[in-house]
Amino acid sequence: MSRHASQFYTVEVGDSSFTILKRYQHLRPIGSGAQGIVCAACDTLTNTNVAIKKLSRPFQNVTHAKRAYREFVLMKLVNHKNIIGLLNAFTPQKSLEDFQDVYLVMELMDANLCQVIQMDLDHERMSYLLYQMLCGIKHLHSAGIIHRDLKPSNIVVRSDCTLKILDFGLARTAGTGFMMTPYVVTRYYRAPEVILGMGYMANVDIWSVGCIMAELIRATVMFPGSDHIDQWNKIIEQLGTPCQEFMARLQPTVRNYVENRPKHAGHSFEKIFPDVLFPPDSAEHNGLRANVARDLLSKMLVIDPDRRISVDEALMHPYINVWFDEREVNGPSPGPYDHAVDEREHTVEEWKTLIYNEVADYQKRDTGQGIMQNESGGAMETVTGDSNTTARGPSATPATNTQNHH
Ligand code: AMP
Repeated sequence: MSRHASQFYTVEVGDSSFTILKRYQHLRPIGSGAQGIVCAACDTLTNTNVAIKKLSRPFQNVTHAKRAYREFVLMKLVNHKNIIGLLNAFTPQKSLEDFQDVYLVMELMDANLCQVIQMDLDHERMSYLLYQMLCGIKHLHSAGIIHRDLKPSNIVVRSDCTLKILDFGLARTAGTGFMMTPYVVTRYYRAPEVILGMGYMANVDIWSVGCIMAELIRATVMFPGSDHIDQWNKIIEQLGTPCQEFMARLQPTVRNYVENRPKHAGHSFEKIFPDVLFPPDSAEHNGLRANVARDLLSKMLVIDPDRRISVDEALMHPYINVWFDEREVNGPSPGPYDHAVDEREHTVEEWKTLIYNEVADYQKRDTGQGIMQNESGGAMETVTGDSNTTARGPSATPATNTQNHH
């Protein structure tokens, strides 16, 4: 057996097989997304639990390749406790010719937000989750990364109520998004300006936070459209037809469609979010009350981005600012990100080389050796933003909260 092969072993998980470094043991599947399967594992070198995501042939088509490349480059760059940290990356193939799969090793979290939506959260936990989302988003914005596709499946939490964003959203040129996969893309959380193909600014991500907050309160998807048209209908049925000023900024064909929809007056936020849906007001924090939460929703779920609250304003809102910590809100920005990556068009073969080189570089950087000579089978752990974590947020775990307010 070659030295390289001896560092790896193969294990079957579900319909897939993982060929991974021997330091990672006891794999169990914990999730799957458009890019592939995610497993929890034990890192025997550090005696910690990690998540390992397999990207199968990430260069197989241009959509996959661009996403994998962008995500890998950004994960290496970003360092904030509310964005998932990359601990290691490797490929079991030893040459570009054989190159097939990339494995990303990340911090392991307990659940994604879809699972949290089923729980009854008190105001402390709800506002702390929202605060952390906003801190993570602000950090991305500080590097010029506007997400535009935040959704519960791409946000993960621990039982101590800490939260991390898993991905980096849509590239500036997201292409047509057409992909022949059985995986259905969730669009429920996309802002009106994304659905209607308008220009956007940083507060496009506030809309998604608003939809997620609404879902945490109502326990159902706020705007469950089956396609863009249905999505738009769901939005205006609830919030009302937007003003003329907004219409005037639409492209002519879209404007024609939007203006010819039946007019809706919309419902009041008291009707959409009645008191019975909220947990009891907090005894500890004056800002953590149903009417303050509703006020925040009414400022985030605003169709016209010019009238919607900004990320900074949301962080100062009384429902959120109870958690405000300068180091979390205004931590150092990520290193410079070359946005030209978003515009780049390559063939499958070129993507294959680019991605392979990035993984090889990563392994060189961390081991000082490169893809072949990683004898111990292990890269040095990259220190992430968690290293300076101090206990914050609500003390008990959301799972132990048994109030029933739905
Ligand atoms: P993704 O392929 O990144 O969209 O992830 C798919 C699913 O895997 C997520 O919705 C999570 O449920 C789970 N997952 C991904 N990464 C992690 C992680 N680092 N910790 C815990 N669960 C994760």
